[in-house]
Amino acid sequence: MFPSAPSPSRGAAGRLRCYAVSAMAGALAAAPAFAAGSDYPIQPVPFTAVSFTEGLWHDRQETNNRVTLPFALGQLETSKRLQNFDLAADILKRRAAGEAGAQHKPVTEYPFDDSDVYKVLEGAAFCLSVRPDPKLQAQLETIIARVAAAQEPDGYLYTWRTMHPDSPAHEWIGQNRWEKDPGLSHELYNLGHLYEAGVAHEQATGSRSLLDICLKTAELLQRDFGDGEPRIAPGHEVVEMGLAKLYRETGDKRWLALARFFLEARGHGGGEYSQDHAPVVDQRKAVGHAVRANYLYSGMADVAALQGDPRYLEAINAIWGNVVGKKLHLTGGVGARAAGEAYGDDYELPNRCYNETCAAIGFLFWNHRMFLMSGDAKYMDVFERTLYNGFLSGVSLSGDRFFYPNPLEYDGKTKNNHGHAGRAPWFGCACCPPNVLRVLASLGGYAYAVRDQDLFVNLYAAGEARAELGGQTLRLTQETAYPWNGAIRLGVNPQKPATFALRLRIPGWTRGAPVPSDLYTYEDANPAAWTLKVNGKPVSAALESGFAVVRREWREGDRVELDLAMPVRRVAGHAKIKDVAGLVALERGPVVYTFEGLDNDGSLQGLVLPAGADTRPVYQAALLGGVTTLEVDGAKRVSRREDGSLAETPARLVAIPYAAWNNRGLSPMAVWLARSADKVRLPLPPTIASTAKLGVSFARGGMDPAVVKDGQMPQNATDGFPRNFDFWPHKGGTEWLSYEFAKPERVSGATVSWFSDEGQGECRLPKAWRLLYKNEAGEWLPVPGVSAYAIRKSEPVKVTFPPVVARALKLELDLADNFSAGLYEWSVESAK
Ligand SMILES: [Zn+2]
Repeated sequence: MFPSAPSPSRGAAGRLRCYAVSAMAGALAAAPAFAAGSDYPIQPVPFTAVSFTEGLWHDRQETNNRVTLPFALGQLETSKRLQNFDLAADILKRRAAGEAGAQHKPVTEYPFDDSDVYKVLEGAAFCLSVRPDPKLQAQLETIIARVAAAQEPDGYLYTWRTMHPDSPAHEWIGQNRWEKDPGLSHELYNLGHLYEAGVAHEQATGSRSLLDICLKTAELLQRDFGDGEPRIAPGHEVVEMGLAKLYRETGDKRWLALARFFLEARGHGGGEYSQDHAPVVDQRKAVGHAVRANYLYSGMADVAALQGDPRYLEAINAIWGNVVGKKLHLTGGVGARAAGEAYGDDYELPNRCYNETCAAIGFLFWNHRMFLMSGDAKYMDVFERTLYNGFLSGVSLSGDRFFYPNPLEYDGKTKNNHGHAGRAPWFGCACCPPNVLRVLASLGGYAYAVRDQDLFVNLYAAGEARAELGGQTLRLTQETAYPWNGAIRLGVNPQKPATFALRLRIPGWTRGAPVPSDLYTYEDANPAAWTLKVNGKPVSAALESGFAVVRREWREGDRVELDLAMPVRRVAGHAKIKDVAGLVALERGPVVYTFEGLDNDGSLQGLVLPAGADTRPVYQAALLGGVTTLEVDGAKRVSRREDGSLAETPARLVAIPYAAWNNRGLSPMAVWLARSADKVRLPLPPTIASTAKLGVSFARGGMDPAVVKDGQMPQNATDGFPRNFDFWPHKGGTEWLSYEFAKPERVSGATVSWFSDEGQGECRLPKAWRLLYKNEAGEWLPVPGVSAYAIRKSEPVKVTFPPVVARALKLELDLADNFSAGLYEWSVESAK
């Protein structure tokens, strides 16, 4: 949600990565069968009719209700997001009373902070829907009254302008309403979340207080945009989904027409960052800011379902194929790049990736909609992967700590979570925490769905549900310890005997394919066994679009037994994912596993997971809220002896579910380990640089210069890259790094590995570089007799020279004009 991470390609992503979308090949698969109708041909069983009675999701929902909800409501006050509404209301009142010139400065950081209030209201409404709570309901009405007071008489609602009307209170805000919305004003983004909240609140409580605020703003949108002008492509999508919900709730077709208008407005001169590079029907690849993208594709699915334009479906089907075929992390996370919080290029899937929690949530929304359109289980397979892994990692077991990025590897100390090491209680840009709140509260709505004479079972979790099918209410029960165990016992209870098809999702992982593409494969691709019984008798059910279909006359008390074998699977990545070349990951059922240092002698360095290693699942009720861990025998650890040679020792390893990492303090973490000793990356032996005091001419916030002496040196341009240091946003001119030694050292060489993010950001190789040394008299002098100062990308560049006695060594570099520069590693050799 944050517009652009502080990194080399800030603001540049859209401009630098242009290509002819129309030239793209078509979709990976044919577009799903499309029924032009009044809405999705498949309708979810609403979350209000589904309850989880025990197990993982029951526990997580309990924590969500008991901890996350009050915590988030509290944060609306302490982070002053609600105060913005009070300040806007104050100015409305004072100006109406004739106090010209009265205005307030906003008390939070970003103009989109209003949206956090709406998302918390939506999450709270979802909680209320399943658990009536008069006190909470009254608290919401109080908040809604504060929102209403900040709404301008003509319906406009955007606290940052209302409290500071004479001039924009932020550079993102235009002089006039909406004019900077295609950029970063987020006026329509805020409204999109308002509409989702207003509908949820009305459905939960019957109160129209928030919905009326929504409709007043929608009438304003109708007046401002209803005649097709101006063409505004919302800079951060979500208003499209919000308007579709508003249409469903009210039946007013103007809101659906507006949703379509905002979709059609795209592709008129904007960039890829906000998916404004091409008309939506011509887009074929996932590009730009990943949350924006996934919200856009979800909105396109809604409008396609409600209006029946197959071109929309063709576009999102192709884009989905691009993501699942080339841009999906094993954890189901998407949006690999920190720069621009964006989708990367095809196969750009680094382990130290971004994968914003909100991007995972948008991906859940999008996959669920693709399923509702098509009835194909592959979308719910991907949904399940994201749900159990890359989404669930976003919140702590305690319910009050959150991840913004969700990487697949962590060094145990970097402050990579928007300035925090480990999960944080809240963020300046706090899109993720309330997004987790609302998804967990409404999770039941993704478990079942109905269509004519079909009942779909998409998620397996212990609980109960009521589904409307064939004119009667059907009561369903599920007993299972999924995802730790694949035994599922379903009770099917129609009020009177009824013939329909029960469609049970047989997950892709059961069928031997981790994802519906060739992006990841199991080393042993044999399908795992699964069996199905009805009332104790084996049934051979046909598989249709990934569902086992049992069509029969069902009677009260019918029992279905589905058993999915859950072998531990070794996963390999596609050969084009350079960051996992030679590496292996473990999965079991829908759960991706990871290794934390604290279970593995404190360090993950040098670990090898060979093909013959014995891997056993062990359920541990007292660990991490109750999880199945994997105990691994037959692994190895490679280490470097003092003389530099390599030693191998046997290692016994423990893996935990990825989503549960970082719940026991800071520790290194890695999903992927080397599959053989030659794929291990060990730090170089220490040099005199390792212990020297490092100085730099400049380092921006969050950039850690110490990585240049951590011993991680890429060996070639396809190596799995360690972290870099760079001088961005400094461009042109001269910058330096220096090593100050504890005592004078005889220095005879240095090795540098240069960083460039050409094609993504604004770092290039430097124009020139040189070494200086501080002699014993304390003077800085050029190092004499240095061999050629070569400049090559991502491989060690070594220089040698006759030994000098140095108290310190300095590396000076001349930056290319209009570009910055950086490096991975700078090591120093001392003369014997
Ligand atoms: Zn977020």
